Amino acid sequence: MPRKPRGPGQSPAKEQKIQIFLFPSLLLHHILGRMKRYFDTEEEIEEALNSLSEAVCPHCGANGAFVRHDSIWNSGGAQNGLRGKRAYCDKRRGRGCGRTITFWLSDTLRGRCLRATELMRFILGLLAGSSAWKAWRNAKTGMTLRTGYRTLKRLVNCQSIIRTDLFERGPPTRQGKEKTPLLETLRDLKEAFGINAVSVYQKTLQKTFP
Ligand SMILES: [Zn+2]
Repeated sequence: MPRKPRGPGQSPAKEQKIQIFLFPSLLLHHILGRMKRYFDTEEEIEEALNSLSEAVCPHCGANGAFVRHDSIWNSGGAQNGLRGKRAYCDKRRGRGCGRTITFWLSDTLRGRCLRATELMRFILGLLAGSSAWKAWRNAKTGMTLRTGYRTLKRLVNCQSIIRTDLFERGPPTRQGKEKTPLLETLRDLKEAFGINAVSVYQKTLQKTFP
């Protein structure tokens, strides 16, 4: 009995299998990447929630399985303002995966109490030449100085991410001149996205500010 040919003759079938496997995950990744997650106003979030009946779940690919869920508020509750709204992929409809997606206001920093406008006031203070403690005090966040130093440290640690995102949009217009690399990054951030750079960054790039 002739043996099956081995070697190069077998590889196309294998490649085909990989492609078949990769296609749905790439498609889901594409959907996940394209789904808008940051919005400027509650009205825009509502609009997105209302169009969910036609949406494809970025996690499982189910079509039209989303159900509105709850709202996420700033610490202290509803009177302190909205952070975002959630919907979940309904399992009871027999096709969903049960996972939630959140539509955020672009002023919300995920996982932090600090808001984008407060962080931006701090950044503007630093850019104006204030010391960290003074810039934090003037940002009027109501949070301790310790949080201020932690916020500064996070900016220092994440500046390469910010720089990469900015560079993808084009090289910075000015070079050097600031006292530290962090200040150069923050200046470029402000030049690219304006006075509300942190929330505009989230809205424009559709990703969480680092
Ligand atoms: Zn799902």
